[in-house]
Amino acid sequence: MNVPIYKNLHSSKELKIDKVNSEVYRLNSSFTNPEFKQYDFWSFQGGSYRSRPDWIVPVVDNFSQENYQGMNAREYGGGTPVTDLWNRTMGMAVAHIEPIFKPVNLPVEVQSDKQVRIGVIFEQEDNILSPEEEYQTIMTMVLVHDGDCYNGLSVYSSLMQKQGLTFEKFSDGSYEPIWCGWGYGEDFTLNDMYGTLPKVKELGFKWAVLDYGWENNNGDWLPIKSKLPNGEKDMKAFVEKVKEMGMKPKLWCVPFDADTASNLAKEHPDWFVLNKDGEKVRISFWNTFFLCPAVPEVQEYQVELARRYIEDWGFDGLKIDGMCLNLAPPCYNPAHKHKSPYESCEKTAEVMRKVFEKAKLGDKKALAIFKEYGTHLGEAIKTIMFAVDPEAIILGGSVCQSYPLFQKTMWEQVQTFPYQNSIDRLVIERSDEPHIAILGAAALYYDSLPGQQP
Ligand SMILES: [Zn+2]
Repeated sequence: MNVPIYKNLHSSKELKIDKVNSEVYRLNSSFTNPEFKQYDFWSFQGGSYRSRPDWIVPVVDNFSQENYQGMNAREYGGGTPVTDLWNRTMGMAVAHIEPIFKPVNLPVEVQSDKQVRIGVIFEQEDNILSPEEEYQTIMTMVLVHDGDCYNGLSVYSSLMQKQGLTFEKFSDGSYEPIWCGWGYGEDFTLNDMYGTLPKVKELGFKWAVLDYGWENNNGDWLPIKSKLPNGEKDMKAFVEKVKEMGMKPKLWCVPFDADTASNLAKEHPDWFVLNKDGEKVRISFWNTFFLCPAVPEVQEYQVELARRYIEDWGFDGLKIDGMCLNLAPPCYNPAHKHKSPYESCEKTAEVMRKVFEKAKLGDKKALAIFKEYGTHLGEAIKTIMFAVDPEAIILGGSVCQSYPLFQKTMWEQVQTFPYQNSIDRLVIERSDEPHIAILGAAALYYDSLPGQQP
């Protein structure tokens, strides 16, 4: 790990820093085996590009890739700031290990003598070092290892985790099969969705996604009248329908983007990222524009949207589109008073974290409601026990899909019944029978007929 500090030793002369080179090395694979060409390496490169190149590639003659960690195209930026080269004998990784975004290059370049140059290179803008002033580079890592890039990336990961960037445990259900309505494209109808859900259920999918096209516009994020004429009421009905079928509804959305036709754009024209020319930055697919993640009100709005989806409408999860997920562009909007245009990049991950936490909190609230339901149900069962002392109780209806969520509190309440023998004997089962209520009514009627034993 390295954090060099440089000092301008001139007593009266300013120095302009154009570029800071850290961990720059030239590697020659033929040193380890004379049969190898100088550039015979495999390479891991974590740059994000519009062409979506592979992250692991064999290095070939004249290969060159900058792996810039800022925006490489309008919607493509960010990445994993690690470069790792390896052959059968050795491997070498370089990385920046600052805990927040840095706009650095991590180039892999076959040079004219066929050796490969790697490094962490920080281009500077208007960086003047006054006399006697010090400059501290970003924190970087260099690692020599055996094996392949897994070893370099593992060490990078452990160094980041030691700085507190630990992984969240993935949510229950993250790896369950998901059916997405995107197969119908943006012109889907709710009838398309309702008509397909039984087959989705039959095939064993656990999630059903309402995808792009449900919203009136990106920005206001309200149900579009042409598909959901009753607005939120239709949205909640869709959510209920998916839940009734024993699946979990998920909603597609995009963080920090807005259509200029939205009410949001009219009410908050100063929320947008502006480029150096003072123009909004377009997200091409939806013809929308980036909002600045470093504006506190933009952050609050994104969290409020997550709350609306999860708490008001009842969705169990969000499908966040990957189009502009990685990074917001640098922001030159004077209204935001950024210390650095890269504040918008630095805050991108923070917004995503806040959205995640709000969605999880909604989840907790839902869990609390089920726990409370379990307590009430336990009370009701105790009343039945006083009246008829049953040996078995069969629970039916759609709520049974959520039985594991209220089972514990239900039994805790039943355990307070004063006669232990009755508790010990009692069996509570669930029925998957979809028409349990009508069967129950029929049974009562049947029992009441003359000549029938109750
Ligand atoms: Zn900004």
